[in-house]
Amino acid sequence: MTELRCKVLIIGGGPGGYVAAIRAGELGLDTVLIEDGRFGGACLHVGCIPSKAIIHAADAAHALTDPLALNAIGLTLTAPTLDFAKTIAWKDAIVARLATGVGALLKKAGVRSLRGRATIVDGKSAIAHADTGDQKIACEHLVIATGSEPAPLEALPFDGVDLLSSTEALALTKVPETLAVVGAGYIGMELGMAFAKLGAKVTIVEALSRILPLYDEELTLPVARRSADLGIGTILGAKALGYAEGALRVAGADGAETSVAAEKVLVAVGRRARTSGFGLERLDLTMAGPFVRIDDQCATSMRNVWAIGDVTGEPMLAHRAMAQGEMVAEIIGGEKRAFDHRAIPAICFTDPEIVAVGLSPEAAKAAHGEVLVGVFPFRANGRAMTKQADEGFVRVAARADNHVVLASTPSAPASPNSRRRSRSPSKWARGSRTSPARSTLIRPRARRSTRRR
Ligand code: FAD
Ligand code: NAD
Repeated sequence: MTELRCKVLIIGGGPGGYVAAIRAGELGLDTVLIEDGRFGGACLHVGCIPSKAIIHAADAAHALTDPLALNAIGLTLTAPTLDFAKTIAWKDAIVARLATGVGALLKKAGVRSLRGRATIVDGKSAIAHADTGDQKIACEHLVIATGSEPAPLEALPFDGVDLLSSTEALALTKVPETLAVVGAGYIGMELGMAFAKLGAKVTIVEALSRILPLYDEELTLPVARRSADLGIGTILGAKALGYAEGALRVAGADGAETSVAAEKVLVAVGRRARTSGFGLERLDLTMAGPFVRIDDQCATSMRNVWAIGDVTGEPMLAHRAMAQGEMVAEIIGGEKRAFDHRAIPAICFTDPEIVAVGLSPEAAKAAHGEVLVGVFPFRANGRAMTKQADEGFVRVAARADNHVVLASTPSAPASPNSRRRSRSPSKWARGSRTSPARSTLIRPRARRSTRRR
């Protein structure tokens, strides 16, 4: 078996791993990246990018078929037709273009990229099982960035035909007439609303008592209203029991069973960390439940073994993985860095979108005592009215004693930061911004403008 030596070995080429690799390469660190599937990971191939493409297509189609909204601005159109296979081909072309870009950035940074499954030998080496044969790689620093995969549900095992994970749902070439969605979290609500706009009759089944339980209720009410307007049925406090002959059996909150017509079922009840099947157990790592435990520098319990992204737990967001990846590369390169968990922004790409950073007003109160909360509705905002997008509001929570902002929830893809009132270009270059967003271009520009490597 041939043996390679390097300073930094990264396992997993998703947003965490490829950003870590590019940054390490830029800093002149000898870096090897091993990826089992395609560089870009879940986010690029089966997550953020494909889902945002489908959501955009659904919004565009719906805007042309919403007679009330069209009439209000004096437009009358004949019904458009949708070639969904073409929509999927358009989405795939975007993904392919971005994947080429990731490859080019890795090459430009001098990263040695290997395709194949990695198996960990110990904290200083791994084997890459590539098509061309096995290759042993010895390193000084090992970065685990193996990400996550859809969590299965015993009663509804994925079959890729009727019972779909988000991966298969994003590859459908025909809009199903009826779609049941199990789980009203990020994926369930984003894709459920998109498929409803594309013409599917959607029913959402959620175990808890409201949709999007990860956000406080005030933030989710406009989404619940819009979801009802789109004709989406919602069964809350419910349990999916099984699927047969085009129907999903559901036990409601009162225990009564109902049957939901469903040509397809999207199961979106969370994602689980990828921690098995590649020798992770050979390391003496402390776990945090199903995730690899890390400190605020993404250091694990073993010296010079680092972990970033979804494998380290919630929030499972691409921009968090990217920010962690960049930070670990810079720490290995000799910089003093730490990750600020208080300021990870999030966007839920529903209609309306929820954009949030920091604490909910209740959590802010519990942590900091008296807080000031300001709320302003979009229906009183001229720009929102002229965009026919006046559902929702902006909410800001600040400490009463010193007015430090603890939370903000504007409803547009912004780049909020919860605790700093002004930011210099060098801070813009480092902060965690939401993904996918046009503002991700700010990071490399800001870095260049401040001449950071
Ligand atoms: P991953 O992207 O999972 O990448 C891990 C990589 O490691 C994979 O490519 C895998 O093949 C590779 N790998 C695993 N094991 C091995 C091994 N042994 N050897 C070699 N390679 C290995 N986040 C957002 O911020 N915004 C969004 O809008 C958004 N939308 C999403 C929509 C959907 C439908 C989904 C499913 C997710 C979405 N996410 C979104 C979440 C985002 O995709 C993840 O948080 C992000 O991809 C995590 O990055 P990662 O690098 O930790 O892991
Ligand atoms: P999620 O954690 O957002 O939502 C899962 C939902 O399923 C929850 O509401 C939960 O109560 C419900 N649930 C759990 N078990 C259930 C059951 N047996 N029956 C019915 N409902 C059940 O998970 P997700 O939507 O699968 O998304 C996975 C991850 O991907 C998220 O953690 C998120 O971080 C990431 N993601 C992010 C974005 C974004 O940033 N816009 C978009 C999509 C996905």
